[in-house]
Amino acid sequence: MMRTYGNFIGGQWLPSCTGATFSTRNPADTEEPVAEYPLGGREDAAAAVSAAEKAYPAWSAQTAVARGRILSKASQILEGRKAELAELLTREEGKTLAESLGEVQRAIDIFRFFGGMSYVLGGQTIPHDLPGNLLFTRREPVGVAALITPWNFPIAIPAWKLAPALVCGNSVVMKPASQAPAMTLELARALAEAGLPAGVLNVVVGEGRSVGAEIASHPAVAALSFTGSYAVGQGIYERLARRMARAQMEMGGKNPTLVLADADLDLAATLVVKAGFGLTGQACTATSRVIVERVVLEPFLEKLLQKTAALRVGNGLQAGVEMGPAVSRDQLEGDLAYVEGAVAEGARLLCGGRRLLDGEYARGWFLSPAVLSEVTPGMRIAREEVFGPVVAVLAAEGFEEALQIANGVEMGLSASLVTRDLKKAMLYAERIQAGVVKINQISTGLALQAPFGGVKKSSTDSFKEQGASAVEFYSKLKTVYLDYSC
Ligand code: NAD
Repeated sequence: MMRTYGNFIGGQWLPSCTGATFSTRNPADTEEPVAEYPLGGREDAAAAVSAAEKAYPAWSAQTAVARGRILSKASQILEGRKAELAELLTREEGKTLAESLGEVQRAIDIFRFFGGMSYVLGGQTIPHDLPGNLLFTRREPVGVAALITPWNFPIAIPAWKLAPALVCGNSVVMKPASQAPAMTLELARALAEAGLPAGVLNVVVGEGRSVGAEIASHPAVAALSFTGSYAVGQGIYERLARRMARAQMEMGGKNPTLVLADADLDLAATLVVKAGFGLTGQACTATSRVIVERVVLEPFLEKLLQKTAALRVGNGLQAGVEMGPAVSRDQLEGDLAYVEGAVAEGARLLCGGRRLLDGEYARGWFLSPAVLSEVTPGMRIAREEVFGPVVAVLAAEGFEEALQIANGVEMGLSASLVTRDLKKAMLYAERIQAGVVKINQISTGLALQAPFGGVKKSSTDSFKEQGASAVEFYSKLKTVYLDYSC
């Protein structure tokens, strides 16, 4: 059944100022509409910022503990709707139901985590050099925070930005990606039910270049956290820099998994299939380069191809499906163009990389998971983010060369290594240029209580997301000197 949403501004569900709407369709079956949304524009975005400005004084004056109670309550409300939300997520974005259930659970846990954190959110006392003096810091909110999010984790990413923003006392304007906005609006619904005052959270759906651009350039927006592509992130960062607003840009990756000669090759192939093709490869931390020591290249490829061939592609709502469709026609066409371009540059397509059109696939954006070998570091497929189920395999003569290839790209988000050699594992952790390092683990998958973010062109790398350190972006410290000796 098709749902209908409004923008959520000042505690009300509203149509867009122009009355224009758009709808999303199931990427596994494009004849199935999922939800209808207002097509917001600059005026709607400006109204959302005004509502957030108005709500800010009272919200920021509440204690963190009072704010945290609302987050904990929202976590419970989301938990009660877990199955319904996961199904909606799969229908709108395409990932498998198991992946959606995991993602909704992540959002539930994030709200619980920051609800609990409200009890320890505060400044620090610092010893003063003189007696009778108290020196301490106060943690204060930043003001109106804007959050711009991508479609690929439509509930986890909004949750991991929103929960710390709210617990710190900011009011918020959010713009979810138009491919999958439902989850952000469902978060707003749950928070409103949990008692969040009107105007503290505002959500506007619409195009990036109008809604996103308005909130990025609005003088009342004091901080903006963005997750998405480098091209968009760089443009927003420039706008924020002009007025010296606080910025957090988390962007793409070209994540390597190194397979060393001593690795358990079966484990290595399993990890690559999971991190390369899970979530249809549409994860910023997905494995997209596999750098293998040449002596084990052949046996590794054999295992990788076997496991890839066994993957069941299909509608994510069906039991047993392990990989859903691409999110959209554009994404599918982009993935196929990367495969074609790689072959034209001399790579060998060992399997997949083709659109699936027969039978159950006829009405969706399906493609078969692709493995490319004989990839060299200079090829586009080895340097640019694909954001699809395409794994490029490169050969290296040894650990040093593999590390050099791994570091030879502009991005640095997540990096994995498969080895039994503890020394090489530690050297990798020291020398790899990445924000997250995984040893004998998939390059995807994060602990919500640990800091997350990239380096190089994957991030502005000024603040981390997630975990206790997420509050650094959403709060500022004031230093207070109090002399009670006089
Ligand atoms: P995108 O950059 O196209 O869009 C991201 C958001 O920005 C969307 O809400 C979009 O509407 C908005 N936007 C677009 N143009 C804008 C503009 N001119 N001004 C303001 N906002 C604008 O990215 P996407 O396709 O939604 O997501 C995929 C990208 O996100 C990939 O590069 C992926 O690696 C990255 N990503 C990064 C992380 C991370 O944590 N580092 C996590 C998930 C996804």
